[in-house]
Amino acid sequence: MKAFLPVLLVLSTVSTSVWGQETAEKDKLRALIIDGQNNHSAWPQTTMMTRSYLEQSGRFTVDIQRTQYTWKGGQLLQQFPLEDGKTYQDLEQPKPDPDFKPNFADYDVVISNFGWKAAPWPESTQQALERYVRGGGGLVVIHAANNSFGSWDAFNRMIGLGGWDGRDESSGPYVYLDESGKVVRDKSTGKGGAHGPAHEYRLVVRTPDHPIVRGLPSAWMHTKDELYQQLRGPAENMTILATAYADPKYRGSDRHEPMLMTIDYGQGRIFHTTMGHDAVSFSGVGFITTLVRGTEWAATGEVTLTQVPQDFPTPTQSSAREFSVPEVR
Ligand SMILES: [Zn+2]
Repeated sequence: MKAFLPVLLVLSTVSTSVWGQETAEKDKLRALIIDGQNNHSAWPQTTMMTRSYLEQSGRFTVDIQRTQYTWKGGQLLQQFPLEDGKTYQDLEQPKPDPDFKPNFADYDVVISNFGWKAAPWPESTQQALERYVRGGGGLVVIHAANNSFGSWDAFNRMIGLGGWDGRDESSGPYVYLDESGKVVRDKSTGKGGAHGPAHEYRLVVRTPDHPIVRGLPSAWMHTKDELYQQLRGPAENMTILATAYADPKYRGSDRHEPMLMTIDYGQGRIFHTTMGHDAVSFSGVGFITTLVRGTEWAATGEVTLTQVPQDFPTPTQSSAREFSVPEVR
C-alpha cells in the first residue's frame, strides 16, 4: 500500500470534496474503523462505505483494523478487500482474536462496525478503548455495534443504550420520548432491543442547536432500514439528537425512539447512530451526513462540515446515493 501513497495524495488534492472543502493532508483527522465480526453480513461493504464517506469529506484519513478471525464476511470480503497484506480466516462462528490490539491512541476517533455476537476482545484491548475514550478520544457506534459486548460494563456506559446479548432491566432503563417530547426513562422489566421489518421512516431532530444536526431540516425521511426500539442501558450523560416514531404498523413500540445520540464519557465523546442495517440504509443521504458530522464531532467536539448536501432528503422524500468503491486507493 505504501508505494501507492504519492499517487493517492495527488488524487486527493485534485478531487473536489462533495462537502466543498478540503483539509490539508497534515491537518486531517485520523479515523480508525474496527470490524471483523458482525451478524450483519453487509459489514465488509458498510466498512468501505464508511471509509469512503469520511475520505470524501476531505476531513479524514481512515485506517481499518480487523480481527484476524472474521465472521459472516462471506463473498463481500473478496468484493471489498482490505488489501493490507494480512491474513484473515472467515469462520462459521465468532472466535476471540488474542492479537486484536489496535493502538487507539494513534487516532482522533474510532468507529465500531462490530455487531451482535462479536467475540470478546482481549481484556487489555477493552481496557485500552475505555482508557482512550475516558482520556478524550472519540468513538462512533453504528447500528449493531450496540448489540456487542452486553456484559462489558464500561462499553455499555460508553454506548449509552444497547440491545440484545443479554441486555434487560439490569442493563438500565428503556429510554424514549413521549408525545410531548419529554425523555422517559422506563425501568420496567424486559429485554433490550427489538425491531420490526425494515421500512422508510422519518427522523425528527430534537436538539437543533447541537453541532451534528445544526442547520439540517428539522425532519427527514431515512432510506429503508430497521428501526431499533426498546434499547436499554445506563444512558448517562446522553443527549438524544433525533428520534423516529416506531409505528405499530411495522411492529413498532408506539414510541419516539432515539436514533442519533451523543454520550459524554470522561473527557471523551461518543456519537451513536442506531441506523445502518445494510448497504441500502448506508446509502441514505441523511445517514451519510449525520455519520460524517457525528464522526467529526466525536473526534473534536466541533463540526466544520456544516454544508447541507443538495441531495439531502425532505420530510417526505428519502434520498440515496449510489456507492462504488473508488478505483484507485
Ligand atoms: Zn440490523
